[in-house]
Amino acid sequence: MNKNKEIFLCAICNIESGTCGEDCKFCTQSVKYKADIQRYKKKAIEQIVKEAKKAKENSANGFCLVTAGRGLNPKRLEFVCEAARAVKKENLGLILIACNGTASVEQLETLKEAGIDAYNHNLETAQDFYSQIVTTHTWEERYKTCQNVNKVGLRLVCGGIFGLGETQEQRVSMLKSIASLNPMNVPLNFFHPNEALPLVENSIDRKQAFELIELARKMIPNAMKIMVAGGRELMFGEEQYKIFDKGANAFVIGDYLTTQGKTPKDDIEELEKLGFKIRRERD
Ligand code: SF4
Repeated sequence: MNKNKEIFLCAICNIESGTCGEDCKFCTQSVKYKADIQRYKKKAIEQIVKEAKKAKENSANGFCLVTAGRGLNPKRLEFVCEAARAVKKENLGLILIACNGTASVEQLETLKEAGIDAYNHNLETAQDFYSQIVTTHTWEERYKTCQNVNKVGLRLVCGGIFGLGETQEQRVSMLKSIASLNPMNVPLNFFHPNEALPLVENSIDRKQAFELIELARKMIPNAMKIMVAGGRELMFGEEQYKIFDKGANAFVIGDYLTTQGKTPKDDIEELEKLGFKIRRERD
Protein backbone atom coordinates (compact mmCIF):
# COMPACT_ATOMS: atom_id res chain seq x y z
CA MET A 1 0.00 0.00 0.00
CA ASN A 2 1.41 3.45 -0.92
CA LYS A 3 1.38 5.13 2.46
CA ASN A 4 2.56 8.53 1.24
CA LYS A 5 -0.49 8.95 -0.85
CA GLU A 6 -2.60 11.99 -0.08
CA ILE A 7 -6.26 11.19 0.48
CA PHE A 8 -9.14 13.62 0.00
CA LEU A 9 -12.38 13.27 1.94
CA CYS A 10 -15.70 14.73 0.90
CA ALA A 11 -18.89 15.06 2.97
CA ILE A 12 -22.38 15.08 1.53
CA CYS A 13 -25.24 17.20 2.83
CA ASN A 14 -28.65 16.15 1.55
CA ILE A 15 -30.45 19.50 1.69
CA GLU A 16 -33.62 18.29 -0.08
CA SER A 17 -34.34 14.59 0.12
CA GLY A 18 -36.51 11.98 -1.53
CA THR A 19 -38.79 14.31 -3.47
CA CYS A 20 -37.75 13.50 -7.01
CA GLY A 21 -40.28 12.77 -9.75
CA GLU A 22 -37.72 11.11 -12.08
CA ASP A 23 -37.57 7.33 -12.42
CA CYS A 24 -33.85 6.41 -12.20
CA LYS A 25 -34.08 2.70 -11.34
CA PHE A 26 -31.13 2.79 -8.94
CA CYS A 27 -32.32 5.71 -6.82
CA THR A 28 -34.30 5.55 -3.59
CA GLN A 29 -34.97 9.29 -3.80
CA SER A 30 -37.49 8.79 -6.60
CA VAL A 31 -41.05 9.15 -5.31
CA LYS A 32 -42.04 6.38 -7.73
CA TYR A 33 -40.43 3.59 -5.70
CA LYS A 34 -41.65 4.26 -2.17
CA ALA A 35 -38.36 3.38 -0.52
CA ASP A 36 -38.33 3.76 3.23
CA ILE A 37 -36.15 6.88 3.44
CA GLN A 38 -36.42 10.34 4.99
CA ARG A 39 -38.17 12.78 2.67
CA TYR A 40 -38.13 16.54 3.18
CA LYS A 41 -38.13 19.71 1.10
CA LYS A 42 -35.67 22.11 2.68
CA LYS A 43 -33.14 21.35 5.38
CA ALA A 44 -32.83 24.29 7.79
CA ILE A 45 -29.92 26.60 6.96
CA GLU A 46 -28.59 26.40 10.57
CA GLN A 47 -28.51 22.61 10.27
CA ILE A 48 -26.61 22.83 6.95
CA VAL A 49 -24.02 25.13 8.53
CA LYS A 50 -23.75 22.78 11.51
CA GLU A 51 -23.09 19.85 9.17
CA ALA A 52 -20.46 21.87 7.28
CA LYS A 53 -18.63 22.55 10.55
CA LYS A 54 -18.87 18.86 11.44
CA ALA A 55 -17.48 17.95 8.00
CA LYS A 56 -14.51 20.22 8.63
CA GLU A 57 -13.93 18.60 12.03
CA ASN A 58 -14.07 15.23 10.29
CA SER A 59 -11.20 16.25 7.99
CA ALA A 60 -13.30 16.72 4.85
CA ASN A 61 -11.92 19.12 2.29
CA GLY A 62 -15.10 19.12 0.20
CA PHE A 63 -18.71 19.68 1.23
CA CYS A 64 -21.50 18.92 -1.22
CA LEU A 65 -24.99 20.45 -1.16
CA VAL A 66 -27.29 17.91 -2.80
CA THR A 67 -30.93 18.32 -3.79
CA ALA A 68 -33.18 15.56 -5.14
CA GLY A 69 -34.90 16.42 -8.38
CA ARG A 70 -34.36 16.66 -12.11
CA GLY A 71 -32.74 20.04 -11.96
CA LEU A 72 -32.70 23.61 -10.77
CA ASN A 73 -35.77 25.83 -10.79
CA PRO A 74 -35.84 29.41 -9.43
CA LYS A 75 -36.91 28.37 -5.90
CA ARG A 76 -34.39 25.57 -5.59
CA LEU A 77 -31.64 27.76 -7.03
CA GLU A 78 -32.33 30.43 -4.43
CA PHE A 79 -32.29 27.83 -1.64
CA VAL A 80 -28.94 26.38 -2.74
CA CYS A 81 -27.49 29.90 -3.02
CA GLU A 82 -28.74 30.75 0.45
CA ALA A 83 -27.12 27.59 1.84
CA ALA A 84 -23.89 28.30 -0.05
CA ARG A 85 -23.67 31.87 1.24
CA ALA A 86 -24.31 30.71 4.82
CA VAL A 87 -21.56 28.06 4.66
CA LYS A 88 -19.11 30.42 2.92
CA LYS A 89 -19.61 33.02 5.64
CA GLU A 90 -18.10 30.60 8.16
CA ASN A 91 -14.75 30.60 6.31
CA LEU A 92 -14.21 26.91 6.91
CA GLY A 93 -11.86 26.51 3.96
CA LEU A 94 -14.02 23.82 2.37
CA ILE A 95 -14.47 23.33 -1.35
CA LEU A 96 -18.16 23.94 -1.78
CA ILE A 97 -19.83 21.65 -4.28
CA ALA A 98 -23.42 21.78 -5.53
CA CYS A 99 -25.24 18.77 -6.94
CA ASN A 100 -28.65 19.81 -8.12
CA GLY A 101 -29.32 18.04 -11.43
CA THR A 102 -29.77 19.69 -14.80
CA ALA A 103 -28.49 23.27 -14.84
CA SER A 104 -28.19 26.03 -17.43
CA VAL A 105 -25.19 28.30 -17.90
CA GLU A 106 -27.09 31.15 -16.22
CA GLN A 107 -28.07 29.04 -13.21
CA LEU A 108 -24.50 27.82 -12.79
CA GLU A 109 -23.22 31.38 -12.95
CA THR A 110 -25.63 32.31 -10.16
CA LEU A 111 -24.32 29.43 -8.04
CA LYS A 112 -20.76 30.55 -8.70
CA GLU A 113 -21.57 34.07 -7.54
CA ALA A 114 -23.05 32.63 -4.34
CA GLY A 115 -19.73 30.93 -3.55
CA ILE A 116 -20.06 27.48 -5.13
CA ASP A 117 -16.66 26.18 -6.32
CA ALA A 118 -17.64 22.96 -8.09
CA TYR A 119 -20.69 21.27 -9.61
CA ASN A 120 -21.37 17.55 -9.46
CA HIS A 121 -23.38 15.98 -12.25
CA ASN A 122 -22.83 12.31 -13.00
CA LEU A 123 -23.41 10.71 -16.39
CA GLU A 124 -24.59 7.67 -14.36
CA THR A 125 -24.17 5.07 -17.12
CA ALA A 126 -23.41 4.61 -20.82
CA GLN A 127 -25.26 6.65 -23.40
CA ASP A 128 -26.65 3.52 -25.11
CA PHE A 129 -27.84 1.96 -21.83
CA TYR A 130 -29.37 5.03 -20.24
CA SER A 131 -32.91 4.57 -21.58
CA GLN A 132 -33.10 1.17 -19.87
CA ILE A 133 -32.38 2.81 -16.52
CA VAL A 134 -34.15 6.17 -16.84
CA THR A 135 -37.11 7.07 -19.05
CA THR A 136 -38.01 10.53 -17.74
CA HIS A 137 -34.97 12.41 -19.05
CA THR A 138 -32.07 11.76 -21.42
CA TRP A 139 -28.37 11.08 -21.12
CA GLU A 140 -27.75 13.93 -23.56
CA GLU A 141 -29.38 16.35 -21.11
CA ARG A 142 -26.89 15.22 -18.47
CA TYR A 143 -23.93 15.58 -20.80
CA LYS A 144 -25.03 19.11 -21.72
CA THR A 145 -25.14 20.18 -18.07
CA CYS A 146 -21.56 18.95 -17.63
CA GLN A 147 -20.53 21.02 -20.65
CA ASN A 148 -22.27 24.02 -19.08
CA VAL A 149 -20.26 23.51 -15.89
CA ASN A 150 -17.04 23.68 -17.89
CA LYS A 151 -18.31 26.72 -19.76
CA VAL A 152 -18.82 28.79 -16.62
CA GLY A 153 -15.50 27.73 -15.12
CA LEU A 154 -16.79 25.80 -12.12
CA ARG A 155 -14.82 22.67 -11.26
CA LEU A 156 -16.55 19.69 -12.82
CA VAL A 157 -17.26 16.65 -10.65
CA CYS A 158 -18.55 13.92 -12.95
CA GLY A 159 -18.76 10.17 -12.49
CA GLY A 160 -21.32 7.41 -12.59
CA ILE A 161 -22.67 4.26 -11.07
CA PHE A 162 -21.73 0.65 -11.79
CA GLY A 163 -23.64 -2.56 -11.27
CA LEU A 164 -26.93 -1.70 -12.98
CA GLY A 165 -26.71 -4.58 -15.45
CA GLU A 166 -24.53 -2.73 -17.96
CA THR A 167 -21.96 -4.61 -20.08
CA GLN A 168 -18.20 -4.12 -19.77
CA GLU A 169 -18.26 -2.25 -23.12
CA GLN A 170 -20.87 0.09 -21.67
CA ARG A 171 -18.71 0.73 -18.59
CA VAL A 172 -15.80 1.63 -20.86
CA SER A 173 -18.08 3.80 -22.96
CA MET A 174 -19.23 5.76 -19.88
CA LEU A 175 -15.65 6.28 -18.72
CA LYS A 176 -14.72 7.53 -22.20
CA SER A 177 -17.59 10.01 -22.10
CA ILE A 178 -16.53 11.19 -18.66
CA ALA A 179 -12.92 11.59 -19.86
CA SER A 180 -14.14 13.72 -22.79
CA LEU A 181 -15.46 16.27 -20.25
CA ASN A 182 -12.11 16.56 -18.46
CA PRO A 183 -13.51 16.51 -14.91
CA MET A 184 -11.48 17.43 -11.86
CA ASN A 185 -13.10 14.78 -9.70
CA VAL A 186 -14.63 11.47 -10.76
CA PRO A 187 -16.99 9.87 -8.20
CA LEU A 188 -17.49 6.16 -8.78
CA ASN A 189 -20.63 4.72 -7.21
CA PHE A 190 -21.51 1.06 -6.83
CA PHE A 191 -25.17 0.12 -6.82
CA HIS A 192 -26.63 -0.40 -3.36
CA PRO A 193 -29.72 -2.61 -3.76
CA ASN A 194 -32.93 -1.73 -1.96
CA GLU A 195 -36.04 -3.92 -2.04
CA ALA A 196 -38.23 -0.99 -3.15
CA LEU A 197 -36.24 -0.48 -6.35
CA PRO A 198 -36.88 -2.16 -9.71
CA LEU A 199 -33.24 -3.28 -9.89
CA VAL A 200 -32.75 -6.08 -7.41
CA GLU A 201 -29.06 -6.81 -7.40
CA ASN A 202 -25.67 -5.33 -8.05
CA SER A 203 -24.35 -6.90 -11.26
CA ILE A 204 -20.64 -6.62 -10.45
CA ASP A 205 -18.41 -8.40 -7.98
CA ARG A 206 -15.57 -7.00 -5.88
CA LYS A 207 -12.80 -8.04 -8.26
CA GLN A 208 -14.51 -6.30 -11.17
CA ALA A 209 -15.10 -3.23 -9.01
CA PHE A 210 -11.40 -2.96 -8.16
CA GLU A 211 -10.60 -3.34 -11.86
CA LEU A 212 -13.01 -0.53 -12.69
CA ILE A 213 -11.20 1.84 -10.33
CA GLU A 214 -7.93 0.99 -12.06
CA LEU A 215 -9.54 1.49 -15.44
CA ALA A 216 -11.01 4.86 -14.44
CA ARG A 217 -7.58 6.05 -13.24
CA LYS A 218 -6.01 4.91 -16.52
CA MET A 219 -8.67 6.38 -18.78
CA ILE A 220 -9.00 9.70 -16.93
CA PRO A 221 -5.36 10.41 -15.99
CA ASN A 222 -5.85 14.16 -15.59
CA ALA A 223 -8.53 13.94 -12.91
CA MET A 224 -7.22 15.28 -9.61
CA LYS A 225 -9.44 12.84 -7.73
CA ILE A 226 -10.82 9.40 -8.45
CA MET A 227 -13.33 9.12 -5.66
CA VAL A 228 -15.13 6.04 -4.40
CA ALA A 229 -18.54 7.28 -3.36
CA GLY A 230 -21.80 5.35 -2.74
CA GLY A 231 -21.59 1.62 -2.10
CA ARG A 232 -18.00 1.59 -0.76
CA GLU A 233 -18.68 -0.44 2.37
CA LEU A 234 -21.04 -2.87 0.67
CA MET A 235 -18.86 -3.44 -2.40
CA PHE A 236 -15.43 -3.64 -0.80
CA GLY A 237 -16.15 -4.72 2.79
CA GLU A 238 -13.00 -5.36 4.81
CA GLU A 239 -10.90 -4.61 1.71
CA GLN A 240 -12.23 -1.07 1.29
CA TYR A 241 -8.93 0.73 1.89
CA LYS A 242 -7.35 -1.25 -0.95
CA ILE A 243 -9.16 1.15 -3.30
CA PHE A 244 -6.16 3.45 -2.82
CA ASP A 245 -3.82 0.83 -4.31
CA LYS A 246 -6.00 0.71 -7.39
CA GLY A 247 -5.86 4.40 -8.23
CA ALA A 248 -8.52 6.00 -6.05
CA ASN A 249 -7.39 8.92 -3.85
CA ALA A 250 -10.67 10.15 -2.40
CA PHE A 251 -13.81 8.89 -0.74
CA VAL A 252 -17.00 10.10 0.84
CA ILE A 253 -16.86 10.39 4.59
CA GLY A 254 -19.92 9.98 6.83
CA ASP A 255 -23.37 9.09 5.57
CA TYR A 256 -24.44 8.94 1.94
CA LEU A 257 -27.66 10.45 0.61
CA THR A 258 -29.98 7.76 1.90
CA THR A 259 -27.69 5.08 3.32
CA GLN A 260 -25.44 5.08 6.35
CA GLY A 261 -21.68 5.08 5.97
CA LYS A 262 -19.01 4.13 8.48
CA THR A 263 -18.52 6.69 11.21
CA PRO A 264 -15.96 9.34 10.19
CA LYS A 265 -14.01 8.54 13.35
CA ASP A 266 -13.59 4.89 12.29
CA ASP A 267 -12.51 5.86 8.78
CA ILE A 268 -10.00 8.46 9.96
CA GLU A 269 -8.52 6.15 12.57
CA GLU A 270 -8.16 3.41 9.99
CA LEU A 271 -6.58 5.74 7.40
CA GLU A 272 -4.12 7.08 9.96
CA LYS A 273 -3.30 3.59 11.17
CA LEU A 274 -2.47 2.64 7.59
CA GLY A 275 -0.24 5.72 7.38
CA PHE A 276 -2.16 7.72 4.79
CA LYS A 277 -1.98 11.51 4.78
CA ILE A 278 -5.37 13.20 4.77
CA ARG A 279 -5.49 16.45 2.82
CA ARG A 280 -7.38 18.72 5.22
CA GLU A 281 -7.02 22.08 3.53
CA ARG A 282 -8.53 23.26 0.25
CA ASP A 283 -6.85 22.22 -2.97
S1 SF4 B 1 -32.80 12.53 -10.98
FE1 SF4 B 1 -31.35 12.22 -9.28
S2 SF4 B 1 -32.61 12.29 -7.40
FE2 SF4 B 1 -33.99 12.01 -9.13
S3 SF4 B 1 -34.36 9.78 -9.25
FE3 SF4 B 1 -32.67 10.31 -10.68
S4 SF4 B 1 -30.76 10.04 -9.52
FE4 SF4 B 1 -32.49 10.14 -8.02
